[in-house]
Amino acid sequence: MQYKRSSALFAEAEKVIPGGVNSPVRAFNAVGGTPIFIKKAKGAYLIDEDNNKYIDYINSWGPMILGHAHKPVVDAVIEKTKLGTSFGTPTEIETKIAKLAVSMVPNIDKIRFVNSGTEACMSAVRLARGYTGKDKIIKFAGCYHGHSDSFLIQAGSGAVTFGSPNSPGVTKGTAQDTLLARFNDIKHVESIVEANKNDIACIIIEPVAGNMGCIPPKEIFLQKLRSLCDANNILLIFDEVMTGFRLAKGGAQELFDISADLVCFGKVIGGGLPVGAFAGRAEIMNHLAPLGPVYQAGTLSGNPLAMAAGLAMLTELNEDKGIYKRLAEKTAYLHKGCEDVLNKYKIPHTINRIGSMISIHFSEAEVVDFETAAKGNNDRFKAFFHGMLKEGVYIAPSAFETWFITDALTYEDLDKTIAACNKVCSTL
Ligand SMILES: *Cc1c(COP(=O)(O)O)cnc(C)c1O
Repeated sequence: MQYKRSSALFAEAEKVIPGGVNSPVRAFNAVGGTPIFIKKAKGAYLIDEDNNKYIDYINSWGPMILGHAHKPVVDAVIEKTKLGTSFGTPTEIETKIAKLAVSMVPNIDKIRFVNSGTEACMSAVRLARGYTGKDKIIKFAGCYHGHSDSFLIQAGSGAVTFGSPNSPGVTKGTAQDTLLARFNDIKHVESIVEANKNDIACIIIEPVAGNMGCIPPKEIFLQKLRSLCDANNILLIFDEVMTGFRLAKGGAQELFDISADLVCFGKVIGGGLPVGAFAGRAEIMNHLAPLGPVYQAGTLSGNPLAMAAGLAMLTELNEDKGIYKRLAEKTAYLHKGCEDVLNKYKIPHTINRIGSMISIHFSEAEVVDFETAAKGNNDRFKAFFHGMLKEGVYIAPSAFETWFITDALTYEDLDKTIAACNKVCSTL
């Protein structure tokens, strides 16, 4: 494959955009090389600026669950655009999508729309603090909740409990209010709660971790979290920015039959436009301005184009009774195909999968938390990534990302992917 135009465009971008990208995950820093510039996409495929074609497993990092340029979504946006792009007043479509979301997701009465998953998580935590009157939050090492200050706290090997900032610009004061726990380790969470009795406003978690590869929760881990929260007057926040409308109509809450107090959305809910949302029971959501004292706002929140895309997407997902089963079957097929290949070449691996989320870890050990996810063989991943790219299969340029399966993928595409995997693995 030739990347002439992509390379030239990247060189230009670097002059005026830090690192040439508007979000670091798009850079190829973790795998080497220069990022590929995409010109257009349709269904399961991306076309780059040099006219190379790829089967896409990034899918805009989640939103494109039905494939790129999905007609009902595109049509809805085009029609809305003709009527004006933003008014800064209430519009009918906001209520329509809110009603639909509330009908699809268990255990929520009200939802507020924002512009990104970051905003959703940041606002949900503020609401949890305002509602409970407490300051501290618990998050899990390796879980991503957007780039707001309170969340940019990582586990240093020793200081697991007392967060230290891992991004310059996050103040010590902020870091001190974020307590770090190990994913899938309820004893650890209990010990943190015990040591900070009466100070913890909320526990925020990706119910299925998707930002350290895909890591499903161990059985009863989420149930125990729920009980722990109930016993200590702590709100449980499910960050379903990745899992919402993906694992089931009602997301992880439905899949695991566990109620969260607040739920955050992003990605799929916007159908590819910038949308986030947070939702919960009326009693909590009514603490938001203008009804309550917790302030939260947005000039472009509930933007008509974004709402049109989101409404078209959710409508499709709501009406297609077979969608989640189909997605899970395709993902299982890919899992089996890749697993057979990896076994054939005796390459140490662990594949994690749930619904339409899957990740290959080049590590033999079970991957259950950040520590075990970090044990993967990164050099092997780099070689795998570039090999797959050369074969026309686009996976995320980082070993810590989940692959997203879209309904636009055919079994022929999956077979091509498995064949590419075979070719690449024979050289690893
Ligand atoms: C992507 C993601 C976010 C951040 O959403 P943005 O729209 O990128 O701000 C938050 N939480 C989870 C679980 C995510 O996957």
